[in-house]
Formats: sequence, C-alpha cells, structure tokens
Amino acid sequence: MGRVYNFSAGPAVLPEEVLKEAAEEMLDYKGTGMSVMEMSHRSKAYEEIIQTAEKDIRDLMNIPDNYKVLFLQGGASQQFAMIPMNLMKNRKADYIITGQWAKKAWQEAQIYGEAKAIASSADKTFSYIPDCSDLPIDDDADYVYICENNTIYGTKFKTLPNTKGKTLVADVSSCFLSEPVDVTKYGVIYGGVQKNVGPAGVVIVIIREDLITEDTLPGTPTMLKYKIHADNNSLYNTPPAYGIYICGKVFKWLKKMGGLEAIQKRNIEKAQILYDFLDSSKMFHGTVRKEDRSLMNVPFVTGNEELDAKFVKEAKAAGFENLKGHRTVGGMRASIYNAMPIEGVKALVEFMKKFEAENQ
Ligand SMILES: *Cc1c(COP(=O)(O)O)cnc(C)c1O
Repeated sequence: MGRVYNFSAGPAVLPEEVLKEAAEEMLDYKGTGMSVMEMSHRSKAYEEIIQTAEKDIRDLMNIPDNYKVLFLQGGASQQFAMIPMNLMKNRKADYIITGQWAKKAWQEAQIYGEAKAIASSADKTFSYIPDCSDLPIDDDADYVYICENNTIYGTKFKTLPNTKGKTLVADVSSCFLSEPVDVTKYGVIYGGVQKNVGPAGVVIVIIREDLITEDTLPGTPTMLKYKIHADNNSLYNTPPAYGIYICGKVFKWLKKMGGLEAIQKRNIEKAQILYDFLDSSKMFHGTVRKEDRSLMNVPFVTGNEELDAKFVKEAKAAGFENLKGHRTVGGMRASIYNAMPIEGVKALVEFMKKFEAENQ
C-alpha cells in the first residue's frame, strides 16, 4: 500500500522527502556507523544537529538575538504549567479562551495564581475569535495568553490582541512555521511540533531573555525552569534527540521551499481551494466565521450526522485518512498543514464533489 493523504490534526503528515532522508540515514548517520537514536547527545555529530536546527529555525522565523530557542519535552501541555511557574511573578495572568487548548492552559494556570478569562468565544462553540482590541487587562497581569490557531475549532487570530503593553504568550502548535511572524510582538511563542514541524515528543519554546529568571514560583521543579534549559542550550538532560533531528530536517525543507513567505503563499492557495468549495457546496459547510478561518485546520459538516459518518467512511476507503472531526465537535476536519501537498487538497475536493453528486 502506498502513502495516503493524511488529514490528521496531529501527529500529522510530514514531508515525504524528510522521511526518505531519515530512512536513508537510519543505520549509519553520515559515517558515524550508528543511528541518531543511538548516539550520545554530547557527541560532535549530535551537537551539530541541534546547533544547525537552532540556526535554521532562527533564520526561518527571523528570531532576534535577545530570544532563546529551547527544545524541550512534555508536549505543549507541559507549557500550560511551565508558563505560570516561570512567568507569574504577581500571580496574575489574563487568558483569552478560544477553544479547548486555551481553556486547558487557563485551568492549569489557576493552580498557580489568579488566571482570569478576559474574553471567550465559548458562547458560539468557539467558531470565532473575539474582539481583542480593548480588553479589561489587569494592570498587574504578568502576561496575556492566547492559543493563536485553534486546532479543534479551526479559527486563527488574524490580528494579535492589544495586550496594553503586557507580555504576550502564544501557543502556536498548529500554525507553527506556517507563515512569517514578527517574533518581537511576543514574550513567548511555543508549540508542540507534532502538528506542523516534526514527531511528537518535542516542544519548541521561543522566549525573550528578560523573561528567563531564577525567580520562579516556589516548588518549581528544576526540569520545569526555563533558565536551566536556556543556560544549558537545551542539553541540561538528554533532550528528545531524534525528534529534534527530524525537526531540523523539516527546517531545511522549509528553507528549500523558499522560507515562510513562500510557505504562506502555498498555504493560502491550498486553503482557498477547500474554502471556495465549502462556500459553493449545497451539502458541505464550513463551521467558522469567515474572517477567522484557519489556514491549517478546516472543520466542516453536512448538517446530518449519518451523512457525515458515511462521508468519513467512504473517504477513508478512497485513501483520505483522518477526516473525522474532533470528538467534541463532530462532523469533519481536514488538517492541511505545511506538508500536505496541494494535490491532496485538490483530490479531496474532487472526492467531496463526487460524494455530493451521489448523495443528493
Ligand atoms: C495538540 C495541541 C496541544 C496539545 O499538545 P500536546 O503536545 O499533546 O500536549 C496544545 N495546543 C494546541 C494548539 C494543540 O493543537
């Protein structure tokens, strides 16, 4: 069996080129006689892998020198705790609730201090991004938190909230490296890599240096201090070495594709094909307010649960995998991350047209 079109929200599709390269290097990485999985993280060969990966993501995102790039473990969810533990000096933070991941982060922060929900789109099942131009941000808030692209609901912040001078912290797990970003607008940008960048097991944290201090909440474990990882260039303990190696290959692939501007152009083109069809179809409908649509995660429904299930089943049989919507939303969701080829989206739309014609 060949490769399918994999629309999974995560872990998700990776560039075939990257997988092939990793396969070629599996038994003998560049004459070392061993796999990257088997080598010391203190070896020359590995040092080069992690340093090159850092350099490449710095190039891609144009990360200023006063930001650290950390390759950590624990997934995005561990950051839900690490952020308050390290940043909540006043024990106050403001959260914008645009979906389940923002909500989980907010709930976790409540363990450590006064985490306030200052805006939410829960009233309409998170199908839009609330107006964040003039929010009641606390004068003592240590930071304002967003989930920039909402993987489950398919919304994306098109403009960042007005934080009134407070530090912005953003979970970008599902839009990581999908478009150019102005890193200077954030205090912390972080993402689990298994959506758009690499294999599960790595979370990348890009953090402004002045936010990395010894002054963490009492009881913060050593492993959950940004400072220990920053001081040791992500090699305080054994890092998720193989995962970082794959991320590095994805960074190289992105550079070869022309960088984030080129990738954004391609992502817009790809998403447009699907959204245009959803807007013209009599059977399928997008679930998100148009101006807030994500380029990465596209939820849609027929309005009939049985028909949804039939579609998912027939799509799978035709080689379109993981189109079932999140269990909390139902319907369908096509995640069309960087590595999803445009042919995959075109083929999906053709399949949807055919299904619509056959099920009038
Ligand atoms: C998947 C996801 C998470 C959770 O990631 P884990 O690595 O499983 O902890 C958090 N935030 C967003 C936006 C996600 O898409």
